[in-house]
Amino acid sequence: MVSELAPWVKTGGLGEVAATLPAALRALGVDVRVLVPGYPAVLHALPHAGAAADFPHLGGVLPRALLRAAETPAGIPLFVVECPQLYTRPGGLYQDNNGVDWPDNHLRFGLLSRVAAAIASGVDEIGWRPAIVHCHDWQTGLAPAYLHYHAPHAARTVCSIHNVAYQGVFPPRTLQELGLPPQAFAINGVEYHGKLSFLKAGIQYADRLTTVSPTYAREIQTEAFGFGLDGLLRSRADVLCGILNGIDTRRWNPATDDYLVQRYDGSCVESKVANKSALQRRVRLPVTDDVPLLGVLSRFTHQKGLDLLLDVAQKVIRQPAQIVVLGEGEKALAAKFMALARAHRERCAAVIRFDEPLAHLIEAGADIFVMPSRYEPCGLNQMYSLRYGTPPVVRATGGLADTVVDCNERTVQEGTANGFVFEEPTPAALLKALDRAVTTWRDRVAWRRLQRNGMRMDFGWEASALRYRDLYRALI
Ligand code: ADP
Repeated sequence: MVSELAPWVKTGGLGEVAATLPAALRALGVDVRVLVPGYPAVLHALPHAGAAADFPHLGGVLPRALLRAAETPAGIPLFVVECPQLYTRPGGLYQDNNGVDWPDNHLRFGLLSRVAAAIASGVDEIGWRPAIVHCHDWQTGLAPAYLHYHAPHAARTVCSIHNVAYQGVFPPRTLQELGLPPQAFAINGVEYHGKLSFLKAGIQYADRLTTVSPTYAREIQTEAFGFGLDGLLRSRADVLCGILNGIDTRRWNPATDDYLVQRYDGSCVESKVANKSALQRRVRLPVTDDVPLLGVLSRFTHQKGLDLLLDVAQKVIRQPAQIVVLGEGEKALAAKFMALARAHRERCAAVIRFDEPLAHLIEAGADIFVMPSRYEPCGLNQMYSLRYGTPPVVRATGGLADTVVDCNERTVQEGTANGFVFEEPTPAALLKALDRAVTTWRDRVAWRRLQRNGMRMDFGWEASALRYRDLYRALI
């Protein structure tokens, strides 16, 4: 169960994982069905979704929900929770158009979690019952709590943490609105510093915990990365493991990608330059291959460390180099990138919106991909960039540390170097790594080697899906 599902509703990596992991699991013979909220985009994409069950009064407090059953075009069975009063509204998945959280998010995702628990408890009309409820992130964290209180032996539970910084914390009065018993509001329950935390509930009650990379699994057990939940996570370390996300290798493949003007693979990576020209034209930068083009594709949040790049951007473009930035999020960061682009039209372009085609063109057309995240649970973009022969410059954290191998004498000799890694989240450290990348880019032979090392890597879901299957098997 999950609150996003690519391509219809997605704010980031979560929606991608929701669309790709179930397919990989089904290929291994696991009978996975995905439960999602009935956002208009989902219902619109599935006009033939039939009614599967009606939940008029879940726990006596939550709004009525109609469960619809359908299949995605990729053949993944879906359950969709229809409840127009909660899911049909203009705006974002979690916030209104002004970036303010929906005031009823606890009900929107509490209902989703409650329906999951109901399905797991057995609903005659559905005729199918899961042995395991696998929830993802805070939006689904109450499902293990509902199961614990309403149907303790109905199913085993796995809670995957895609980002521990987002916890779904609500006022204590919501306990009653969500139909949880008073005793749940305790230190070994859903209570978190006097409030109700969805993610804490998931971590507390789930049988197994996973995160989306091995390094992040270690990091979130430390004060620096645990966002207050590190103590609880340490206490549950014996059931916590990190499994690296895969990517959708069909949609993100430079040899078949429809959004590119020139497709290519490892044997003809030099022809990727046609995409660089196309990208430069699209974002109105001078068309040239004499300077390296640095690409950024990111949500604008503190996490992503883009302020570090802003701090050194003037120095970087004087190298000379070009920078293209695509993203949306915090308005202050967007304004700074737009100001930079206005002041240096020849060197910097900023596109502030969600733009899938441009995202693909950046992965293919940039020379160097920049991802200076302060923390990064897994990160998909660096895997896309490696696959597209666009070596990434990343900070040594989470999934970035698990996928990017710093270019140095030893790793070059071993044939494993695929990018540039820096340790400290400081502008100076980032600048040094960018300098190394630009210097290496000028050595075309060394650069090709780096590109090919990255392009050879396997980021498919098979290996990770096997680990999830083993985890499920161990649970039942
Ligand atoms: P996160 O989930 O933290 O945002 P990830 O790197 O795991 O970061 O995943 C981000 C996903 O969202 C990628 O598929 C990326 O291509 C996509 N994405 C992010 N911002 C944009 C944007 N402005 N336009 C198009 N795609 C975007």
